[in-house]
Amino acid sequence: MDILSTLKKHGFSFSKKYGQNFITDTNLLDAIADDASVTSEDTVLEIGAGAGTLTGALAKKAKRVIAFEIDRSLESVLDETLAPYDNVEVIMDDVTKWTDEEIDDLVGGEYKVVANLPYYITTPLLFMFLERKRRPTSITVMVQKEVAERICATEKKGDYGALSVSVALRADAQITRVVKRDMFTPPPNVDSAVVRIDMLGGIAVKDEKTLFTLVKKAFAMKRKTLVNNLSAGYGMSKADAEEIITSIGLKPTARAEELSKEQFITLADALFERK
Ligand code: SAM
Repeated sequence: MDILSTLKKHGFSFSKKYGQNFITDTNLLDAIADDASVTSEDTVLEIGAGAGTLTGALAKKAKRVIAFEIDRSLESVLDETLAPYDNVEVIMDDVTKWTDEEIDDLVGGEYKVVANLPYYITTPLLFMFLERKRRPTSITVMVQKEVAERICATEKKGDYGALSVSVALRADAQITRVVKRDMFTPPPNVDSAVVRIDMLGGIAVKDEKTLFTLVKKAFAMKRKTLVNNLSAGYGMSKADAEEIITSIGLKPTARAEELSKEQFITLADALFERK
């Protein structure tokens, strides 16, 4: 029985609220698992199992797959579609309710995140896995094409923002494929892309927390200069903000989108020293 008939048999109806746009094309599902270089050594954490189509493609290659799914009405569907796999655990819960420690205990060691992400919470989910202590070794996710471009953007590009810098500081990111909207059921309003984010080691900065707080504050008001964003974000005078910015060789009129990741590190170190 095909997936759509199985969903129908279980009385399932797609929910916009949960970002349910499913993929059923087996070539595409296998390609996503390949983009993530999933091997028989890997533990894979999937966010949003849906009807279990990507879960199954991952289970064929991985040692173990742990898949979260928030929508309880998919439980009986997943019981049926994932019955052939003995290396899959489905957790019918909202992944954002799980603490870092609970996820660490669940996965038990190194792991990769692979998912066709629900679009309504793409950015918070990415931050959830980027900002934690024990990060996955890689994150390979389908996201809206425009978000994939933002993730991979470099300085002075229109789509460069807090997400681009936060990823670039911790990882190498690349778009592995563009996926047209008609590959999904139901089709979303925009095209998508798969982005693979490979985590790097530690960052050569005095204090990571200062760095990531700075990145968020620097981009808080997109049209404002760095001086304005820093003075608003840190409650400091404009003169003090200007002094710090110029002390690292930036112009007083500089904007966050002009700064490379190295310049963010230098600025974070200057802020940390000042404290
Ligand atoms: N992996 C399936 C596929 O590729 O066809 C489904 C992908 S669909 C874009 C996203 C899935 O994430 C939906 O099944 C949705 O119910 C689930 N989801 C949404 N929010 C979630 C959350 N906070 N925790 C766990 N699953 C969630």
